[in-house]
Amino acid sequence: MTNLPEPPIELLPCPFCGYNEPSSPHYDKDDELWVICCGGFDCCTMTYANSEPTVIERWNTRATDSRLEVAIGALTEASLVLPKGMALKSVEYALATLTGKDGI
Ligand SMILES: [Zn+2]
Repeated sequence: MTNLPEPPIELLPCPFCGYNEPSSPHYDKDDELWVICCGGFDCCTMTYANSEPTVIERWNTRATDSRLEVAIGALTEASLVLPKGMALKSVEYALATLTGKDGI
């Protein structure tokens, strides 16, 4: 029986600057914590945790915009009952409201 290599760790880009090559998780002996650093130019984003799996999970966790979830729910309901043209207008209105652009 052979040992299979571990799958590569997949880290999302930095949530603030979008840099796509954050550091691999490493143990910081001074702070006694696991850390992932962004590494992007002029970006100091770091995530800390007590274990490697937790620091990876924290780095890859993104907040969701509750307004967007509400809008998607409303649009889904609207698409079920409205004629196609009206549903499209509802989508355009919702997007304009969320983005603050009055493009309709
Ligand atoms: Zn960054």
